[in-house]
Amino acid sequence: MKKTLFLIVMALFIGIPVFMWSRMLAGGLPWPVYLYDAGRLFALIGFVLIVFQYVLSSRIKWIEQGIGLDRLLGIHRRCGALIPALITAHPLLILVSERLQGLAAPLGFLKTIGLIALLLVWVTAGAAMLYGRVPLSYEAWKGVHRVGYAILPLAFVHSFLMGSTLHQSPMGVFWVTLALIYLAVLTNTVRRHFVLKKHPFRVSHVTQETHDIWRLHFEGDHPDFAPGQFMFVQLEQEGRISAPHPFTIASSPAQKGLSICVKTVGDFTSTIADTTPSDPAYVDMPYGVFSFLNHDADRFVFIAGGIGITPFLSMLRYMKDRRLRKEVVLLWANKREADIAFRFELDRMIAETPYLKVHYILSRQEDWPGEKGHVDQAMLKKHVGDLTKREYFVCGPPSMMEEVVRALSFLGVLKQHIHTERFALR
Ligand SMILES: Cc1cc2nc3c(=O)[nH]c(=O)nc-3n(C[C@H](O)[C@H](O)[C@H](O)COP(=O)(O)OP(=O)(O)OC[C@H]3O[C@@H](n4cnc5c(N)ncnc54)[C@H](O)[C@@H]3O)c2cc1C
Repeated sequence: MKKTLFLIVMALFIGIPVFMWSRMLAGGLPWPVYLYDAGRLFALIGFVLIVFQYVLSSRIKWIEQGIGLDRLLGIHRRCGALIPALITAHPLLILVSERLQGLAAPLGFLKTIGLIALLLVWVTAGAAMLYGRVPLSYEAWKGVHRVGYAILPLAFVHSFLMGSTLHQSPMGVFWVTLALIYLAVLTNTVRRHFVLKKHPFRVSHVTQETHDIWRLHFEGDHPDFAPGQFMFVQLEQEGRISAPHPFTIASSPAQKGLSICVKTVGDFTSTIADTTPSDPAYVDMPYGVFSFLNHDADRFVFIAGGIGITPFLSMLRYMKDRRLRKEVVLLWANKREADIAFRFELDRMIAETPYLKVHYILSRQEDWPGEKGHVDQAMLKKHVGDLTKREYFVCGPPSMMEEVVRALSFLGVLKQHIHTERFALR
């Protein structure tokens, strides 16, 4: 619902200037003039979308909650693909129009500013397109992507001082509103930075759970959260503060402490083992909509791949703490037995609650007496009764999630009953 509302707001923000633009068009002019107007229209839409890009990526909780950061970033990606085309078409159409009309307009200061903004659009979009294809670290990509914050002020100066119609009310009012939204987003980001620094958490202890999974416990007053939600963590080690990294909160909201489980995959996660008690941690939370509490149902299937178990740990711990009578089948896929973290705790939960069934599935251990291979249609049919009468939550590596969602669709489970969480913010 919130997503629909958000899309309606977006459509209005695009529709209003387009309507105003169309009202300014005069009839009976030579066609190159309309080419010029089309160029301005593209810039108009591109400008609005750029403002939305800031809003979409700035972790505004009241927008994110109900839609989910993952979906917001999906919209961000789609807009990001459109903006370079729109903004590039703007000078091209104007140039062609001017040439056809025999008008030779010099480059000048304001046009140069516009060109710099266009260049930055391409730098930002290019970095996003190349990430994952060229050896570029997440932090480097993010750094380049942040250059995008300079686009709007440049585009604003260029358009406001150059555009002949932008001073006129109500178009001018609309333009200034967009600039104010941009300033509000920036202020919110800076404010969040200071609030987090003012109320640090402390690492209370670190425990090794498997050969590559560590659990990090924090102490500090945390806000309410739903089981399955995630947070951004920055760790301070020897005076150096890391970039914010997203991790699902693995502990139960019904308990006082806060903990995350981290799998070692790269630069940051490989420093977790060196974290020492009392290290400061800056925690921004909660985010996400991947929680059984968001669905009015009593029968769930949780499907996890590897470290994708963390949201389910929080949900199961919460169900246990609150003594909720929810019927849950957990299918957890790993490569080997040594990868199964929290087995003791999960086995105890199974013994204590008749509503919970857990199946450990291993793909690379031939001597495993339990399920082997991948979560597929046959396995789902075997372990889940009444397939179409449950809510499904899937979290794991992208390829596994795709396979599982496909298998569930084949088995007749409707899209609205399948909920997924990607462990990637791109
Ligand atoms: C919603 C969500 C929940 C997550 N929950 C968990 C969890 O419970 N346990 C767990 O082990 N992992 C979790 N992750 C993944 C975790 O954030 C990454 O593994 C971690 O940030 C990798 O950092 P790195 O520097 O060690 O690895 P790198 O090798 O630098 O990065 C590996 C990948 O992680 C992502 N990544 C890296 N740095 C960042 C960053 N600063 N912000 C966002 N993404 C980044 C990028 O997609 C990158 O390709 C979650 C991710 C998301 C989006």
